[in-house]
Amino acid sequence: MPERTESESRKLLRRLQATLAEAGAGQERLDRITHIIADSMGTEVCSIYLLRDPITLELCATEGLAPESVHVTRLRVGEGLVGRVASRMRPIATDNAPAAPGFRYMPETGEEAFSSFLGVPIQRLGDKLGVLVVQSKDGRSYSEDEIYALEVVAMVLAEMTELGAFVGDNEAMSARHQRSVVFHGGIGQEGAAEGNVYLHEPRVVITNPVADDPQEELRRLHEAVEKLRVSVDEMLDNAPKADAEHVEVLQAYRMFANSRGWMRRMEEDISRGLSAEAAVEKEQSAARARMQTVPDAYLRERLHDLDDLSNRLLRQLTGQGNHSAAQIPDNPVLVARNIGPAELLDYGRSLKAVVLEEGSVASHAAIVARALAIPLIVHAERITQEALNGDTILVDGDEGVVHLRPEDTVATAFRDKMAMRAAAQERYASIRDKPAETLDGTHISLTMNAGLMADLPSLPSSGADGVGLFRTELQFLTRSTVPKRGELAALYARVMEAAGGKRVAFRTLDIGSDKVLPYMKATDEPNPALGWRAIRVGLDKPGVMRMQLQALIRAANGRPLTVMFPFIAQFEEFTAARDHLMRELDREAALGRVLPGKVEIGAMLETPSLAFAPRQFFEMADFISIGGNDLKQFFFAADRENERVRRRYDTLNVSYLTFLAQIVERCQETDTALSFCGEDAGRPIEALCFAAMGLRALSMRPASIGPVKSLLRRVDLREARAVINEAEASGEQSVRSAVMDWLKRQS
Ligand code: PEP
Ligand code: MG
Repeated sequence: MPERTESESRKLLRRLQATLAEAGAGQERLDRITHIIADSMGTEVCSIYLLRDPITLELCATEGLAPESVHVTRLRVGEGLVGRVASRMRPIATDNAPAAPGFRYMPETGEEAFSSFLGVPIQRLGDKLGVLVVQSKDGRSYSEDEIYALEVVAMVLAEMTELGAFVGDNEAMSARHQRSVVFHGGIGQEGAAEGNVYLHEPRVVITNPVADDPQEELRRLHEAVEKLRVSVDEMLDNAPKADAEHVEVLQAYRMFANSRGWMRRMEEDISRGLSAEAAVEKEQSAARARMQTVPDAYLRERLHDLDDLSNRLLRQLTGQGNHSAAQIPDNPVLVARNIGPAELLDYGRSLKAVVLEEGSVASHAAIVARALAIPLIVHAERITQEALNGDTILVDGDEGVVHLRPEDTVATAFRDKMAMRAAAQERYASIRDKPAETLDGTHISLTMNAGLMADLPSLPSSGADGVGLFRTELQFLTRSTVPKRGELAALYARVMEAAGGKRVAFRTLDIGSDKVLPYMKATDEPNPALGWRAIRVGLDKPGVMRMQLQALIRAANGRPLTVMFPFIAQFEEFTAARDHLMRELDREAALGRVLPGKVEIGAMLETPSLAFAPRQFFEMADFISIGGNDLKQFFFAADRENERVRRRYDTLNVSYLTFLAQIVERCQETDTALSFCGEDAGRPIEALCFAAMGLRALSMRPASIGPVKSLLRRVDLREARAVINEAEASGEQSVRSAVMDWLKRQS
C-alpha cells in the first residue's frame, strides 16, 4: 500500500476549499465533496453522515452507495460502525467490515459489496457533528497515514458545517445561528431576566481552515506559540509564589507550550494543508474528546489547561475574542462554559442573568450569583455553541429554561410574566414597613440571607428584620490567598454598621470538598456532600476558624455578636466549636480588647441527627437555625445538586413537615430560639406551612420577603394548621394541594 503523500492531502483540501467557494445549494456541495474525497482516496465509496439531533445520524451525501438512501438511512449514535465512530469520537478502520464488532447491515444502501471501512468523526471542539466514511471492495487495510489524512479532511468538513455550508444557499451560512433554541438547565438562582447574550469567551470563528502556503502557516504558528510562551513565563514570574494552585496551572501551561508532541502534531496538520488556526483547533478537538473519557480528575484538569492554552493561541492567531468593556451589550446576560467566582464578582450586578454550560447548583459561581441575586441557570448544554454575542435571550430562573433568539409569541408571554412580577413587587413595597403578622396575630420575624457587603443596602428596602444568615465563604472563595484577619474584621464591622443595629447571624466558614478554596488542597472524596466539610474542617484544622472568630470579636467591638456554626451533626461538635469561641473571647479579653456587648452562639441544624441530640444541646445553644437546603437532601437522601432527584420530594411532604414540627417542639421545651434559613423559607406556600408548624423566624433572599410577608398577612395560621393536619390524617403524601385549595377558597 503506497504511503499517502502530504502533497496529495494538500491537493484534496484545496479542491474542497474551491467547492466551498463555488456557488450552489448545500446538497450540491455535499455531493461534490463526497465525489472529490472518494476520487482522492482511491475508494469506491465516500459518505457523509450528519447529526440531525443529539442521537440521530443521517446519511446526507454519498458517492458509491445507493443514491435513494440519501436522507433516508438513519441510525442512532452507537449503532453500527458509523454510529460507533460517533459515540466513541474515534476512527474505526477495518478490512472486513461485516466481521467487525457492532457492524449493522443496512440493505437500502447496497453497502454489502464493500468490505473495507474507514470512518472518522466530524467534530468541532468536542461537539459531535457527524461521521465521514470511505469504503472499498478490495478488502484493503487503511494505513495510519490514510486515517490521519481523512481526519484532516473531517476537520475541514467540521469547519464548513459550522459555517453553514451545507444548509442551503449562500445566505444560509449562518442559518444555524438564527433559529430560536430552548435550553433546559438546572436552577442555580431563581428570578427572570430578558437581555442580550454576552459571551464570556467569544468563540473563535475559523473562516480559512485550508491554507495554500504551509511555510507561511508554520511561521504564523511558531510566532504565535513563541508569544504565548513569553506570556506564560511572564505570568509565572508575576504569580504569587504562595498561590500553589495558580502556579501549578501556569506550569502546566508552560509544559504544554513547550511540548514537542503538541507542536509536531500541529506542524504535521499544517503540512497536510490546514491553516495554523485549523491545526490548533484540530488538536484542541482531540484534547476535548479525550477529556470526556479520562476518569482521573487530575488529568482531566490538565487537559482543561491545554484547552485554555489552545484558546489563547487561537485568539493570538485570529485576533478575535479580545473583548473590551465597550462591547458589552445593553442588559447583558453572561453566557459561558463556566466561570470562576472572582470573575463573576467583577461583572457584578451589571449582569441581568448568567447561563452556564457546565457549573453546578453548589458551585462557587452559584454562590456568588445567589449573593448578587442574579438569575443563574447551569447545565444549559451546548449554549456556548449556539449563542452569538448580542442575541436576544430570555432567562427563566424559576423554571430552569432559557430561550435563545425567542419567537415573538414566546417573548411576549415572557414579558407579560415579567410585568406581573414588577406589579407584584410594587404591591410588596407598599407593605414594606408593616409587620409580618398573620390574621390570628402571630408575628413572624422575616430576615434576609446575605453574603456580600453589597447585599446590605437591600436590608432597609426589603423590610427585613435583620440578617438571619450571613454566609462568610465568599471572601474566602474569591481570592487566591487566605484573607487577613484585619481585612475580615474591617469587612464584618462594615456589615454590622450597614445593618444599623439589626441582628446579623454570621455563619463561620462553610467550605469543604465541594466548595474547595483556591488555596486549599483538593481532596478527591467519593461523596463530597457527606465528606470533610464545614465544621468538620473547622474542628480538624482550627487555624482559619479561630482567625475568623477573632475577626468577628474585633469587628463587634462592644456591639452584640451572633455567631452560628454550620453543619453540626452531634452535640460534641457544638461544644467543641463553642469552646473555640469562648477561648478566643478570653484571649481577646487578656489582650485588653473590648468584648462584644452580648454573644449569641447558635448551631445550624442541617443533618437529621441533630434533631435527636440530648436535651443539653438544646439548652446550651442560644439559637438553632435550620439549614433546609442541606437538611432536606439528607432527610430524603436526595442530592440537592442532582437535577434528577432534587425536586423529587416535596418540601410539603408530611414526613418532612412532621419532622420540622418535632424540632419546633424540642426547641419549645428548652425555650431555644429557632429559625429556618434554607431557600424554601423564601417560597410563600412553604413559608406559610413552616409558620403553621410553629416556626416563628424565617430567613430568605431579600426579594422573597415581600411575597412571603404578603401571603402571611392574609392567613390565619390556626386554620392553615388544621388544613395540614386534615390532609395528613387523610393519608396525603404532600399537603400542597390541600393548602393551595384552601388558599384559593380564601381569595
Ligand atoms: C442550607 O443548607 O440550607 C444553608 C442555608 O446553607 P447552604 O445553602 O449555604 O449550604
Ligand atoms: Mg447548608
